[in-house]
Amino acid sequence: MTMDGKIAMVTGGSRGIGRAICVRLAAMGATVGVNYVANPAAAEETLRQIEAAGGKGFTVRFNVADAEAVQEGIKEIIATHGQIDILVNNAGITRDGLVARMKDEEWDSVLDTNLKGAFLCSKAVMRTMMKKRWGRIISISSVVGFVGNSGQVNYAAAKAGLTGLTKSLARELAGRNITVNCVAPGYIVTDMTDGLSEDVQEALKAQIPLGTLGTPEDVAAAVAFLASSDGNYVTGQTLHVNGGMYMGH
Ligand code: NDP
Repeated sequence: MTMDGKIAMVTGGSRGIGRAICVRLAAMGATVGVNYVANPAAAEETLRQIEAAGGKGFTVRFNVADAEAVQEGIKEIIATHGQIDILVNNAGITRDGLVARMKDEEWDSVLDTNLKGAFLCSKAVMRTMMKKRWGRIISISSVVGFVGNSGQVNYAAAKAGLTGLTKSLARELAGRNITVNCVAPGYIVTDMTDGLSEDVQEALKAQIPLGTLGTPEDVAAAVAFLASSDGNYVTGQTLHVNGGMYMGH
């Protein structure tokens, strides 16, 4: 499953699941762009872990929800590295609340980052992949996009939207040998889930057939499969990594 010579970019690669994806792809030989928006120290730590494992990478700051910033950031990577072969749309935020109290701004910011961000980044990298007649676009969805969650209409809508984006883009790009897929994690131990109380975590575990929350590395392994040549014939799919919590079709 070597990725020698491939250039990858992982949005939100500075922490959590994104960091594990960066380290995993770099360990397989890819040169990995660690994107972030607010936390340079965390991005540098991802780069340190990549290099400690003998891999290569670089950090790149831009807000995935800002069309101009995405264009600029990706242009800069292509100017320096010549191409982007693998894009992982991982950057994501939550702004939870019941609909009755949800502000328009909370809806917009989650849709802009989690869904529009994937559209903007995919659009910006497509041309270089089309030229090379090889590419991988992998978006990180969520079990919540499939089963829903009270207090997360914005997040669930964005994550469900990624499935439609993925299937349609997979059809558009298949002729150029570019695969487009989603990985849908269940509950994974990261900053995003750290805020959950012990009680909530125990209740969640009770719904998970494998009996534990997942790790960022569990998700990274699924991304690595889809990004590698082992995933050559898989496109338009969602790979669920959730301990059996939701058994999708
Ligand atoms: P974290 O909160 O730990 O990390 C989020 C990452 O996204 C950070 O690197 C952050 O950068 C980056 N980010 C946020 N907004 C932007 C933006 N506008 N532009 C660029 N980067 C941005 O999240 P997780 O690792 O938990 O989640 C990663 C992905 O996995 C998300 O899409 C999430 O929805 C999804 N997911 C997570 C699950 C979980 O249980 N944790 C379950 C299912 C899906 P910075 O450090 O600069 O803030």
